[in-house]
Amino acid sequence: MAKYTNADCKLCRREGAKLFLKGERCTTKKCAMEKRPVAPGMHGVVRKKASEYNIQLREKQKVKRAYGLLEKQFREYYEEAERMRGVTGENMLALIEKRLDNVVYRMGIGSSRAESRQIVNHGHITVNGKCVDIPSFQVKPGDVIAVKENKKDNALFKELRGAKIVMPKWVEFDTEALTGKIIDNPKREDIDLNINEQLIIELYSK
Ligand code: SF4
Repeated sequence: MAKYTNADCKLCRREGAKLFLKGERCTTKKCAMEKRPVAPGMHGVVRKKASEYNIQLREKQKVKRAYGLLEKQFREYYEEAERMRGVTGENMLALIEKRLDNVVYRMGIGSSRAESRQIVNHGHITVNGKCVDIPSFQVKPGDVIAVKENKKDNALFKELRGAKIVMPKWVEFDTEALTGKIIDNPKREDIDLNINEQLIIELYSK
């Protein structure tokens, strides 16, 4: 699968926002956005006045990079959201949130979305008792998400056992049993991403 090859922290510096791409490091003083919150490169410190288009584009890039999505995938979420009832921007974010790799991240099974995607890819996760190794798989309320029974003793999940995880209220996860559930659809206030999704909708509506 295609992926970004830039250093993760450079992506945050480019977008001028913490995208939480490197797990625990993102909440420590080692975070590059704490140490050097300017765009990478020799002209990083000088930021030009951005055009309306550029502001909208940067907002889209923030979301794409935070969730590790490619342009085609991202546009497909927008198009699906547009066909749904309700507010397109909120629908789009909810669809992205309900990707299995993001759910695994939200439940604390992986420390970053990239790690969570790998956990899914490697077949460690089941949905309603069946192994699902597709990171983009859409979960729905009522789905039971678990670490595969024969993987529960894997070193990957050792530190997770019994840990206290702060997670959004639309999911629950038992860190002893390594099993969780989707309680509800995510609402906009449950999504802790500091972005204005309306700008993205305006960009795609042109
Ligand atoms: Fe790097 Fe994480 Fe900080 Fe972003 S939030 S700059 S990925 S440490």
